[in-house]
Amino acid sequence: MIYSIVRFGDPVLEREAEEVTEFGTAELDKFLEDMFESMYAAKGVGLAAPQIGFSRKIAVIDVSNGEKPEEKLVLINPQIVKVEGKQEGEEGCLSIPGFREQVKRGKRVTVRAQDATGELFEKTGEDLLARAFLHEIDHLHGRLYISHISALKRDLMKRKIKKMQRAGEWG
Ligand SMILES: [Zn+2]
Repeated sequence: MIYSIVRFGDPVLEREAEEVTEFGTAELDKFLEDMFESMYAAKGVGLAAPQIGFSRKIAVIDVSNGEKPEEKLVLINPQIVKVEGKQEGEEGCLSIPGFREQVKRGKRVTVRAQDATGELFEKTGEDLLARAFLHEIDHLHGRLYISHISALKRDLMKRKIKKMQRAGEWG
């Protein structure tokens, strides 16, 4: 099932998501499958549960865009363990369509998370994967990438979005 993506302005995107406490259930497996399906349909490389309206600490990532099944990653209750180096590059968000901004992020990031069965694991990613880790984990804490750009750029963006909301052009 493909969920529609919640857009900026919905409070679910700006609240701390709840920890997941039940693992290994058919519901969770189905939910994760739907998250991947929704992410691929939206042509994203990452998706956090709040973006489809569920305030839970779950994110899925696939920086291969569905090309390599071994790159599918499920992060449940993830934590950032280590951030090394710096990278700067364009970043966008499925919940803020039509906008992209330069965002500084760590270059090499290690996360600790649980998988669908509740098993803890650690994974280190570089470049795009490191950026995806930080972007998606931000979502689970109610933070959007626009909190990492200048206040001036953010205000301009918000003003454009308000205009689109008034015109009924914002989902
Ligand atoms: Zn996002």
